[in-house]
Amino acid sequence: MADTKTAEEVQEDTAKEDSEEQHTDHSPMASESEREGSGGAKPSQKAEVSNLDIVRHYFDKAADHMGLEDDVRVVFWTPYREVTVQIPVKCEDGKIHVFSGYRIQHNGARGPYKGGIRYHPEVDVDEVRALASLMTWKTAVANVPFGGAKGGVNCDPSKLTEAELQKVTRSFMDKIEKVLGPTRDIPAPDVNTNAQVMAWMMDEYGKLHGHTPAIVTGKPISLEGSLGREAATGRGCVYMFREAAPSLGLSPAATKFVVQGYGNVGSWAARIMQQLGSTMVAVSDANGAVKNEDGIDAAALHDHISQGGLITDFKDVEEIDPEDLVEVPCDVFIPAALGGMIREDNADRMNCKVVVEGANSPTTPAADTILREKDTYIIPDVMANAGGVVVSYFEWVQNLQHFQWDERDINDKLATKMRKAYRDVSARAKEEGLDLREAAYLVGIERVVEAARTRGYIEAPSAKSTS
Ligand code: NAD
Repeated sequence: MADTKTAEEVQEDTAKEDSEEQHTDHSPMASESEREGSGGAKPSQKAEVSNLDIVRHYFDKAADHMGLEDDVRVVFWTPYREVTVQIPVKCEDGKIHVFSGYRIQHNGARGPYKGGIRYHPEVDVDEVRALASLMTWKTAVANVPFGGAKGGVNCDPSKLTEAELQKVTRSFMDKIEKVLGPTRDIPAPDVNTNAQVMAWMMDEYGKLHGHTPAIVTGKPISLEGSLGREAATGRGCVYMFREAAPSLGLSPAATKFVVQGYGNVGSWAARIMQQLGSTMVAVSDANGAVKNEDGIDAAALHDHISQGGLITDFKDVEEIDPEDLVEVPCDVFIPAALGGMIREDNADRMNCKVVVEGANSPTTPAADTILREKDTYIIPDVMANAGGVVVSYFEWVQNLQHFQWDERDINDKLATKMRKAYRDVSARAKEEGLDLREAAYLVGIERVVEAARTRGYIEAPSAKSTS
């Protein structure tokens, strides 16, 4: 018993580690990027709390509501396994740069660990822990047979050549492959990683284990990637909005929307909203923000950025301060950049009816309260952006059997899964008088606890004495 810890001790320890354990990159490249400001993405203002605080807050709130025992909570406050590796890479400047890589497996009660890999100069163990636990609840809410994990490397891809990026990726895979596997843990793309990065990861893993496409999802189609995966997270956000719209008196064809972050999730959500007849009135990325009340062509903007153009140079737009994006009047605001961008100090300025959280943890607890007081309807990350992991699940299933569904099949199956998740969560929210976020966490936690108890990972509560 001497080694066991109470709930309070675990919280104190993790907070202490969080402040001590900053695995910063001390390479020359890192100090250079600190001086110049990262060319990659980072919120211009820091949120009042960390991503980990955000996820823990929402978990605890739901756990309080369901009366989850303290000793069971402790199991979920900390991850099952954390791997931290050093990645020294000789770059084209002739110097060795040392990056830190993480793979954190939060909980695997419902199946193999699943979660993306993020490349970003700000990646640290605290952020990866937060994202890993969010994946545990998200896979449960979407009801796909996975646990939750996340990975990251604290590099800035905008400062690496393609060859350097490939070296970092292969070296990272070499160092974490022992905890991965198609029935153990299956990575996918996240911020600043894409199908190409997944292809290198699969190839590196294959050198040791033979051709294993099911080791990662989000691969290129030519390497057994799934049709529809690239668009899946953005598409899933739109499907969630479509489910919610009638009860909010909104029709997609008459909807004005704003997108914060025009990468994979944001640009796909925007292009699919546009196909439904909605109008994008403002948009931002790490390079700036623009607006046009009459509409910004989402597909043309995507092409413009893909060809190397800056968002601020796009035709027929007015440049605005990125901090003012939240003020642009719209029906739907889609945060699709980084965590903590809707904060205590800007939530009150938001001018939308609905927030569809494409990004992970975009809304701090204080901002969440402010928005709810303003009657803003929030479709939370833990369900809104689950489309990516749902189609990752389809990709994994296809890979295990080496066949391919066509894109229409994938999108139909995605729609079915997203609709079911939305209906399960909103029914629960109505039954118990909760908002969607609390209800989603509740559904997710219940499913994970049930699996953990059934498989014997945690014991069922002992029968209370009647004497
Ligand atoms: P991405 O790298 O493709 O795009 C990120 C975008 O955010 C880029 O356009 C970048 O310029 C922009 N950005 C960064 N900082 C910004 C800032 N301060 N202001 C405005 N824009 C900024 O990444 P992605 O895969 O689209 O992921 C975006 C979010 O969605 C992340 O929170 C990620 O965890 C979440 N998410 C992604 C997936 C997926 O399948 N890719 C799945 C679920 C959740």
